[in-house]
Amino acid sequence: GTRVRQKLVVGNWKMHGSLEANGGLLKAVAAGAGALQPVQLAVCAPFPYLAQCQSLLAGSPVQWGAQDVSAEARGAFTGEVAASMLAEFGCQFVIVGHSERRTYHAEQDSVIATKALRALEHGVTPIVCVGETLAQREAGQTEQVVGRQLQALLDALSVEQLGRIVVAYEPVWAIGTGKTASSAQAQDVHAYLRGLVASRDAGVAQRMQILYGGSVKPESAGELFGMPDIDGGLIGGASLKAEDFLAIGAAG
Ligand code: PGA
Repeated sequence: GTRVRQKLVVGNWKMHGSLEANGGLLKAVAAGAGALQPVQLAVCAPFPYLAQCQSLLAGSPVQWGAQDVSAEARGAFTGEVAASMLAEFGCQFVIVGHSERRTYHAEQDSVIATKALRALEHGVTPIVCVGETLAQREAGQTEQVVGRQLQALLDALSVEQLGRIVVAYEPVWAIGTGKTASSAQAQDVHAYLRGLVASRDAGVAQRMQILYGGSVKPESAGELFGMPDIDGGLIGGASLKAEDFLAIGAAG
């Protein structure tokens, strides 16, 4: 059938970068992105570099965003960054519920759903991450785990709001390990997630971009992005080299 969903390839820089290194990377990505359209590219940078992203990417085809956002709107929350602030710096996206946040900062499904709501209030698209650990996969619990993680969003968001999120399936055992889920393994989970969304609203499910993340490399991207329910990728390590990131985008 005809593709209803645009491919989206998002770099997750994690806690990497410097003004100097980012400058070269952003310029190279911006220069190469136009040729990849209609594939959309975006980078999610550490907070201090959002101004740099804005100044180097505004007017380019590349969008940008952050890697986390506060569940609170404003107030006495030392160290937190509000969704309104991300919007002021031109963020189109914010990653929420990345497995590194879930693991190292004990983020629960309910707080992740609230973060998504805060982002939506300011027109910032949350990229909501879900994924199982190796032990959970081996115990046959993959659908149960990702289903529970997604259900928190289905419970907290209206149909209109659900229509404005992106989901990223990132098996924890594939993140930063060099082990990618096979395209068939990933497709199965993506189809399951889309089915859950469809039980709320079929049209939203049909339009929702569901990205795959976990050791995506230029060599593996083509097969993954060719699957019917995989709408692009969330790219960690390989997003730090313009050549690799653009090659992944070209696979979209
Ligand atoms: P990776 O990271 O591509 O380095 O595995 C992906 C992610 O954590 O978003």
